[in-house]
Amino acid sequence: MSEENSFIQPAVTGSRPVVAIIGRHNVGKSTLLNRLTGKRMAIVADMPGTTRDRIISTVVWQDREFTIIDTGGLIAEPSSSIDEGVNLQVKEAVGEADLVLFLVSAADGVIPSDLEVAEWLRKTGKKAVLVANKADNPKRETAAVDFYSLGMGDPIIISAYHDLGIDDLLDHIIALIPETASTGQEEENLLKIALVGRPNVGKSMLLNRLLGEDRVIVSQVPGTTRDAIDTVLNFDGDPVILIDTAGVKRRGRVGKGVDKFSVVRSLRAIDRADVALLLLDATEPATAQDTHIASFVQQAGKGVILVVNKWDLISHTEQHEYNQLVGERFKFMPYAKIMYTSAKTGKGVNKLVPEARRIREERRKRISTGELNGFIGRVVAGQTPPHKCSKFLKVFYATQAEVEPPTFVLFVNDASLVHFSYQRYIENRLREQYGFEGTPIKMVFRNRGED
Ligand code: GDP
Ligand code: GDP
Repeated sequence: MSEENSFIQPAVTGSRPVVAIIGRHNVGKSTLLNRLTGKRMAIVADMPGTTRDRIISTVVWQDREFTIIDTGGLIAEPSSSIDEGVNLQVKEAVGEADLVLFLVSAADGVIPSDLEVAEWLRKTGKKAVLVANKADNPKRETAAVDFYSLGMGDPIIISAYHDLGIDDLLDHIIALIPETASTGQEEENLLKIALVGRPNVGKSMLLNRLLGEDRVIVSQVPGTTRDAIDTVLNFDGDPVILIDTAGVKRRGRVGKGVDKFSVVRSLRAIDRADVALLLLDATEPATAQDTHIASFVQQAGKGVILVVNKWDLISHTEQHEYNQLVGERFKFMPYAKIMYTSAKTGKGVNKLVPEARRIREERRKRISTGELNGFIGRVVAGQTPPHKCSKFLKVFYATQAEVEPPTFVLFVNDASLVHFSYQRYIENRLREQYGFEGTPIKMVFRNRGED
């Protein structure tokens, strides 16, 4: 449990700039990501179950916020081949990032594959920064000068492990990424739904279903990102914004286009949405890529509906088995609602938007401080609190600091006593009492008196 989450920052609604870290295996990408995450100041409490292989994170620096991706995490099986860092998924992420950090190791010096990657990066024309990691001592700092030979200018010299040069790196990043585009007040209040999922699950077909009944008010809203197409729909008299990552594939040509899965495109769409409809293919539910996207939705703190599509291909007696199967594979988000659709026949499709609307209401619920403290008091009394030797966790005071997603801050005597299972215990009780169905909730434990 982190003690550094020191103040609360309202959720940013526009799509955050994306910074991608690339580099060979073992240069320190994951260490850097975690180091940068540690620098954040907003409450971005880790979601249980997704921290093992964290590959994305939100960083806040000087009032600016960006998303950082460790592209190493996009490679399923790191191979030992020299071009391992430049596989397809990585290329995709780099292509759509706002800035690339090319991480090299000052402990190893320039190696041939660094030259290849630098050459490739140059060709992409991407804004990129060379970062020499593992410069733990003056000797290595001096050695980092060799990296000039990569033709990328001054390397920024850091030690991710020892926290050297990181502030300087953050200043550089902030100077190079675009400001977050702020969304208008109008759009602010409309329900925003992102349609995400791996290729071929039926996103385009579902979209056409949703658009099909003369609901379109405005298609392709100008001024929105290049990564997704926004459509404003009239749903039972209420406008809804549909953020559609499949829209890059031509509408009306369902099934014919080749839809490349793009991590960055999905991330940005999720980032701007209130609720993500994560489409799964009923004939092949819960692949690794599906759970990957789910973890993005969770880390972004967004609402989610797991939409099991192509339901027409499955015999309907199997629904309870599916609930079990999907529930098991997505058990890190037990709050997710599972729904069944057939984009082909239209079955179930019209229930999605009303459910998304309901989830947004759940996300906006606020529990008064008085009520919450009474409740937490009873919950804490209901079970022996965690302890180390004779020191027991004490909760002095709790407050709901934020909505969308609901965020609770608990002031305690010693945050390090709080374990995952205890956090889960409180979360479960909160959900039993107050619902919050379909949305993650965040909990932050702070030591009292450390403001
Ligand atoms: P990745 O494969 O690029 O994600 O690399 P990791 O972040 O997993 O780091 C690989 C190894 O390098 C780990 O043992 C890290 O502890 C180590 N490492 C990362 N950053 C530094 C650093 O600044 N200095 C030193 N000496 N080791 C580091
Ligand atoms: P996308 O890549 O996620 O946009 O997927 P598409 O919408 O292009 O659909 C991929 C394929 O699945 C196409 O051949 C569709 O006709 C088919 N498909 C999509 N939804 C359904 C469905 O509900 N039932 C059936 N039987 N086929 C579907």
